[in-house]
Amino acid sequence: VKHYLSSINEQKHLNAFIEVFEEEAIERAKEIDLKIREGNAGKLAGVVVGIKDVLCYKDHSLTCGSGILKGFKSLYTATAVQKLIDEDAIIIGILNCDEFAMGSSNETSVYGPTLNAVDNERVPGGSSGGSAVAVQAGLCTVSLGTDTGGSVRQPAGFCEVWGLKPTYSRISRYGLASYASSFDCIGTFTNSAEDAALLLEIMSGEDEKDSTSSSSAPENYQLEESTTKTYKVAYLAEALNHEGLSPQVRDVFQETLSKIKEAGNQVEEIKFDLLPYLLPTYYILTTAEASSNLSRYDGVRYGHRSDQAENPEMLYKKSRTEGFGPEVQKRIMLGTFVLSADYFDAYYVKALKARKLIRNKTLEILKEYDFIITPTAPTEPFKLGEKNKDQMEMYLGDVFTVQASLCGLPSLNIPFSNKKSGLPVGVQITGKPFKEKDLLQAGNFFS
Ligand code: GLN
Repeated sequence: VKHYLSSINEQKHLNAFIEVFEEEAIERAKEIDLKIREGNAGKLAGVVVGIKDVLCYKDHSLTCGSGILKGFKSLYTATAVQKLIDEDAIIIGILNCDEFAMGSSNETSVYGPTLNAVDNERVPGGSSGGSAVAVQAGLCTVSLGTDTGGSVRQPAGFCEVWGLKPTYSRISRYGLASYASSFDCIGTFTNSAEDAALLLEIMSGEDEKDSTSSSSAPENYQLEESTTKTYKVAYLAEALNHEGLSPQVRDVFQETLSKIKEAGNQVEEIKFDLLPYLLPTYYILTTAEASSNLSRYDGVRYGHRSDQAENPEMLYKKSRTEGFGPEVQKRIMLGTFVLSADYFDAYYVKALKARKLIRNKTLEILKEYDFIITPTAPTEPFKLGEKNKDQMEMYLGDVFTVQASLCGLPSLNIPFSNKKSGLPVGVQITGKPFKEKDLLQAGNFFS
């Protein structure tokens, strides 16, 4: 703990942590030291964990990177976090993120952006940028993030660490502040596939406090040390020919495909003509869900309350106007629009149908293949401010990650880098529902 505390102090400029629980973590470490000596310590004894600022941790602040929740403290602990604590993990602090997990660069946070440790002029990705940098820069052993449309995998790719988004419903969402409830997943940032497997094993399972959590029993995710198994992998022709794909990313991706092939796996190109529909479907459905989820922040029940209001309606309006940042306000408006009576069928219902088609088609591919492989993001980590002028450009960066999110499938960022530029470039594999173990095992093999 002391080691991590001094690293956090030395690297404050990265702005990865919003809050650090210095004394509390040291106290807990002492308790756990004692347990270790007595021989009754949990599986995560001594593991130091940072958590994204959208996960509840009782009596600690929860702000979702937003002004609207300033001053709010959690009343209970998220199930996933509690399960780590029960195994004697030490929570060291709260990690920066895009406001309400809406963003791909960590630039929408009310606390300012987190910086990529590999190059401080570049973004760490988002929305779980702080969680990615915390592991990248050695500020904690592992961290938790959340992934609605890529927020674990893309920042993991930008920071060259492992990022796992499990199957939707595998880990309870109780205590996770909702962005888009039918997409949100808790995921992990680690230095190895083995660490991701261990965390997943501990956090998975049915939870009576989350009715959408899966009742299927969690597997023993421990990875085989050596395996002779080879895999059948599909890559999407449309992804490789995507106009937004940078040459640096294409190089790393093609090299990886060749390496995987040489190792005895079968790698085939397939057509996926639904690729152009992924982003519109994702952004219609998630903004719809967000506009509904975020209606609870009314200036009465949580966090910020405007002192400029003369009546209740003004109180709602002013509190929300003052509390929410521009990206969140835009998404609330978009979501309200697609849910409004006049446009509900044209946008929301149509997007639901598109989601079904995308899922069916993707599952069909996964009947024949073990994994779908794509670059995690179409570009290397970009410069701070670079994509802020044109929001569409920012959204286009999610083109490869949203497929697994729309389908609820497990998906993994395998860390690589471009040898010439020295910048991180992730490769993503997406697998069959609940087959996280295969995903991690293969990730290890392909890396
Ligand atoms: N970048 C995507 C978005 O802005 C994904 C965010 C996420 O997964 N939380 O919606």
